[in-house]
Amino acid sequence: MQFDSLGLSPRLINALNEQGITDPTPIQTQAIPHAMAGRDVMGLAQTGSGKTAAFGLPMLDALMKNGRKAEPKTPRALILAPTRELARQIHDTLATFAQGSALKLALITGGVGFTPQIERMSRGVAILVATPGRLVDLLDRRAVDLSKTEFLVLDEADQMLDLGFIHSLRRIAGLLPKQRQTMLFSATMPKLMEEIAGAFLTDPVRVQVNPPGQAVAKIEQKLHFVAKAAKTDLLIELLDAHRDELAIVFGRTKHGSEKLARQLENAGYAVAAIHGNKSQGQRDRAIAAFREGAVRVLVATDVAARGIDIPGIRHVYNYDLPNVPENYVHRIGRTARAGADGTAIAFCAPDEMGELKDIEKAMKAKIPVASGAPWEVVPDAAARSGARPGSKPRQGQGRPNGQGQGRPGGQPSRRPAQANAAAKPGAGSAKPRRPGPRKPRAA
Ligand code: AMP
Repeated sequence: MQFDSLGLSPRLINALNEQGITDPTPIQTQAIPHAMAGRDVMGLAQTGSGKTAAFGLPMLDALMKNGRKAEPKTPRALILAPTRELARQIHDTLATFAQGSALKLALITGGVGFTPQIERMSRGVAILVATPGRLVDLLDRRAVDLSKTEFLVLDEADQMLDLGFIHSLRRIAGLLPKQRQTMLFSATMPKLMEEIAGAFLTDPVRVQVNPPGQAVAKIEQKLHFVAKAAKTDLLIELLDAHRDELAIVFGRTKHGSEKLARQLENAGYAVAAIHGNKSQGQRDRAIAAFREGAVRVLVATDVAARGIDIPGIRHVYNYDLPNVPENYVHRIGRTARAGADGTAIAFCAPDEMGELKDIEKAMKAKIPVASGAPWEVVPDAAARSGARPGSKPRQGQGRPNGQGQGRPGGQPSRRPAQANAAAKPGAGSAKPRRPGPRKPRAA
């Protein structure tokens, strides 16, 4: 299957070929013909599946064929993305496809001043890529008029399900013409997502490349049961094995991610951190340095990392497990992009057994264990703390269930008892005992 058999104009096919893109990915093969026929599309696809081109190419094709001059403030196409990074990436990808055409693109996201964005809109824009919050701000300032918008795309829509986003989406939806083409892409399909899809789409064609919530097949996943205090040493040991390759490490909190970045820096790594406390400029510089390879390890929180598309990322570490299970799929989707290989390594401390259970349930698959063994939730300890057994016990309430199943290198663990001591209830401390000096292992 080639792009020309999908009905795309030769101009776009040339633009693709110039980027070395010759064969459509499965989501492109499935979605493009329906989108070209004007149908609404609901695409269930992971990041890295080529979904930007799946919605972008038919949209560009239609806009190019109907070459109206861009009027001030009135974009003909609107693409909404949950984060600044993803919005920028979509903007840049579409700009390369549209190169040489008369189509003007604009990017509207938070974190930067209003004036240049207002001026940009007043000069006329065909395609607007925006994050919902800032778009609402500009609508309030009457700097954007959506009454003539013919195409709407909601990308990574499942990441827009919290209340702030839903409120903004409702505002935006009310300003769009009913007569339009809408495409919605999402990696997962929680129940609330079905409702949003129902509100935005009319008789959509459903296309799907991976069952929702299931990870990209090319990603090799591994799980280490490791005490909280031993995570950093284990991370350094694993990073040491691939010093020249790009790795992204996910932490849960801003503070924890910053601290981890400093520890890795002290261990000799070129590291950058991106999280909610960093300015947009700092985030952009960090991502640029990572993309160029000047920084090999990027420590990130979920919000900051969404949408990052850097083909060279070979390793994703879930240093902390996400507490929203779908985010596991999003995180590991940062590797193995466009058919490349990648590994996704998750660390699970005793207090993360609840998160692990939720992730495996959402993926309908177990993550293969590389070292350690599942922590047992001890009902006594849970009861003492008032927590329900099995319901996300706090640090120190679990203990490894059985012997270690081997180190990453395949040798059996030398210290299965240590993790036991580290996390055993009544060990005297809520924190696991810090294991031995060099490259300790929890189990
Ligand atoms: P996306 O899922 O849209 O974020 O795309 C992931 C990556 O795949 C991007 O780096 C694209 O440039 C790349 N890509 C998109 N379509 C194709 C294709 N048909 N062949 C090869 N690479 C592609």
